[in-house]
Amino acid sequence: MIVFTGVAGSGKSKQGKMLADRFGLPWLSTGEFLRMLIHGDKRKSMLEGKLLGDKEIISLVQRMFSVIDSSHEFVLDGFPRTVAQADWLLNQAKHGQLDITMVLHLKASEQTVTERLLKRGRQDDTEAAIKERFREYEEAILPILDHFKEAGVAVIDVSADKSIKEVHSEIVEAYNGKKSAH
Ligand code: AMP
Repeated sequence: MIVFTGVAGSGKSKQGKMLADRFGLPWLSTGEFLRMLIHGDKRKSMLEGKLLGDKEIISLVQRMFSVIDSSHEFVLDGFPRTVAQADWLLNQAKHGQLDITMVLHLKASEQTVTERLLKRGRQDDTEAAIKERFREYEEAILPILDHFKEAGVAVIDVSADKSIKEVHSEIVEAYNGKKSAH
């Protein structure tokens, strides 16, 4: 499994899909899955940029993993976003249920993500929701990355302020390096 992390607007979904297409891998996204399933008040809170509860997300992720062959390589987008979610994933890996090849962390400035998201114009891309997601991400991401590092997982930082092509090349290089080391 290749885990893509990064704030909304860092290009993590686009880059994850590009990597998946290049190497013929499945691409799973919690955000996309939720948008297919969630209605009512929860949908509203997603649109405000608020995270859904860990228990619910973990059960969703389990369901996502069950529809693919999770013993083969795949790309995971949008998860984990909290320390509890990261712990759950690491625990699965520890018990041999899953294999984490690497964690790609797309680092982007608040200015870059705000500009990109306002252009993208999804309904949850308001200035307030962008600010909320950036704050949530800044608070959550470092402890999550530390947990992965402590567990011996390779965490690779890529600057997402560069062009799509440059970021993609860096990711491909990192993945090829990991694949040959595996
Ligand atoms: P995304 O498409 O990744 O930006 O996700 C859209 C929305 O789905 C987020 O703002 C959250 O409300 C919800 N969501 C997606 N992934 C998670 C997660 N791992 N934990 C909690 N909420 C999530």
